[in-house]
This record gives sequence, C-alpha cells and structure tokens, in this order.
Amino acid sequence: MMDRIYMDNAATTAICPEALAAMLPCFGEHFGNASSIHGTGRDARKVLEDARRTVADVLGAKPAEIYFTSGGSESDNWAIKGAAFANRKKGNHIITSQIEHHAVLHTCQWLEKQGFEVTYLPVDEYGLVNPRDVEAAITDKTILISIMAANNEIGTIEPIPEIGQIAHEHKIIFHCDAVQAVGAIPVNVDAWHVDMLSLSGHKFHGPKGVGALYIRTGTKVDQFLHGGAQERGRRATTENVPGIVGMAAALAKAAANLEENGVRLTYLRDKLIKGILDAVPYARLNGHSLKRLPGNVNVSIQYIEGEALLLRLDLAGIAASSGSACTSGSLDPSHVLLAIGLPHEVAHGSLRLSLTDSNTEEEVDEVLRVLPKIVSDLRAMSPMYDDFINGKK
Ligand SMILES: *Cc1c(COP(=O)(O)O)cnc(C)c1O
Repeated sequence: MMDRIYMDNAATTAICPEALAAMLPCFGEHFGNASSIHGTGRDARKVLEDARRTVADVLGAKPAEIYFTSGGSESDNWAIKGAAFANRKKGNHIITSQIEHHAVLHTCQWLEKQGFEVTYLPVDEYGLVNPRDVEAAITDKTILISIMAANNEIGTIEPIPEIGQIAHEHKIIFHCDAVQAVGAIPVNVDAWHVDMLSLSGHKFHGPKGVGALYIRTGTKVDQFLHGGAQERGRRATTENVPGIVGMAAALAKAAANLEENGVRLTYLRDKLIKGILDAVPYARLNGHSLKRLPGNVNVSIQYIEGEALLLRLDLAGIAASSGSACTSGSLDPSHVLLAIGLPHEVAHGSLRLSLTDSNTEEEVDEVLRVLPKIVSDLRAMSPMYDDFINGKK
C-alpha cells in the first residue's frame, strides 16, 4: 500500500520546511507588533521588511511596491475595486476574461451593480485570451484591464506581456491575477507591463491566509482596509508577520528552483497526459498542450461523472479535483470548461491533477495504473456509456 498521493496542488500546497522554519521564531522571539517603536516591535519590523524585499526581488519590483494581504482573493478584490473607484471620474469600463478566478469574476459582477460596465472577453478552445480582442474592447471609458497569468483549472498561460503592452499604450491600468503563476513560471512585473499583480502564499508551499498585491508606483488605487497606518497607510490591520515571513521563505525557495522544477514537472505532466490519453478511450486534454503550467493536467473523460471519479480516486489514496475546489460541491459545470466550448456533459466528466516538486514518477505511474481501471468500472455502470456503445454497434 502506497502512501497517499496528493495531486491537488492547484487548490493548496503543503508548507515547505523552509517556510515553517522561518515562521516559528515569529511566534516566539519575533512576536512583536511591527508598528511598535520598542525593540520587540523593531525585531518584528526587521523580519517583515526582509520578507518584503525578498518578494520584491523575485517579482523584479521595488519593496515599496509590495503590499501584504490576507491572500489571493483579497489582492484581487483590492486591485479591482481599488482601481475602479479611484478612477471612476475617468470612466467606468473594465475588461476581464470569462475564465478568471471567482475572486475576479464575482468582484466584477459586484462592480456592475455599482454602475461599472464590464466586458468579459471570450477565450479560444485552449483557454487563450487574444490580445487583439483586448485592444478591440478598449473604449474611452476603459479604466482597468484584469487578465490572469495562468488559469487555475486548465493551466493555460496567457499572453500577459502582449496584453500588458496594449494596456500601457492606451494608458489603462493593468492588473494580473498571477496566483497560479508565481512560484511556477518566471514572473517579472516590468517584462509583463503590469501595474498590479496578485499572489498567494499557500499556492507555492507558503502558509494559508497570506498573500501580496504588487502596486506599481504611481498607480491610482483606493485604500482597501481602513484603520491604522500599516502598509504605508494603504491597508490597515496589524501585520501577519509569521505568515508573511513564511510566504517569503517559500517564494525564495520556489524562485531558486524554478527552472529545475519546471523541467522535471513538465516531464511528469506530459507523461501523465500521454498515459491517460493512451489508456482511456474518449478522453481529451483541456487547455493548451505547450502554453501550460508545468504541473497542470486537466482531462475530460466522457461518459463518467467527475465527482464519482474523484471519490473512487480518493478511495485509492489519490487526491485530485474536478475543476476547482471552489466549484466542486456545486453541480454547475465549471465556467472555464464551458468557456473553452465543452458541452455540459463533457465538462461534468473532468479531472484536474496538479503536481508540485514533491510529486514523484512512481506516483505518476501509480495514477496511470489505477485511473483506467476506475474509468472502465464507472463506465460499466453508466447507462450513458451503454447507450453510446450500443448506438455505435
Ligand atoms: C487560489 C486562487 C485565488 C485565491 O487565492 P486565496 O489565497 O485562496 O484567496 C485567486 N486566483 C487564482 C487564480 C487562484 O488559483
């Protein structure tokens, strides 16, 4: 019996030993309030500012442009609402895509109720946003463009540098939800022409409940949390020093191993994809085969229910996901899979396996051994599959 196999790293990752080791002293000797002027406070302030420099260095930003938040969702909310209201006099139009994370989509939908107008750009069959569509959607009222770096369900990597360049040519603020990209692929705020960028600690082996928003100097964005003067007066609340320090340590490690992990994960990913498509009839890959996060596998397997597949995999000790953790539990098919053109019934039978540096080739082989058998078992019980096979005869 093998240990459990965890392949749901797009939902969350385990804290790495380096992050944990960096955090522990913050619960002990560095417990101080980073805003206090005494020595205990100054100790906390020092580790906090070291962490800010680490995050800034990895992104190619200045430390003063890094604002710590409670996670990816808050960073997205702050960026979008903050830019929308701060620039309301200039216009009320926002451009985003149909495949964004709900932290972006639901924020935009809320803004529509506040009088903003939002264009939700379609994507192609691979989940790619076309930069020309972005440019064509710009009006003289457009104040913000928000496009994700890499999709959390299908792993597609968007043409962010091109979109950023268009935004800047038109002097429009560009926000990028890079929560899935940071720690997985190279990210640079200047090369990407972004004005704001969201990241989240728990997606790259840091702790949960902590993230950051990069805000380029000079970007007009309203304050998000009102209260004390923390984060240069732009986000109140006593800083989460242990979380921030842990996130920075995890990010430094991920950045140092980025290339090596990328090569290894790409190999495992492609072995898994090929193995599934070879062994499971009526399966398809979702997302782009090359412009893809190194650790992301997303396949639709026709004539089965994704939820049933997940339960059977769980029984076999394999943790996977059927789309995103946020949408599982509801019976609606994923908005991302519908946006790439999958019919409802195909979208329902989808499986996401997301890998990280701690996954091994033995684990990939085990999944490839177990999965085809589970699929044929489930299909043997499926009236849909029965009808399909009989229809073919
Ligand atoms: C996980 C995720 C978020 C939300 O981050 P939290 O830190 O969990 O709030 C936002 N966007 C994307 C693309 C994500 O994958």
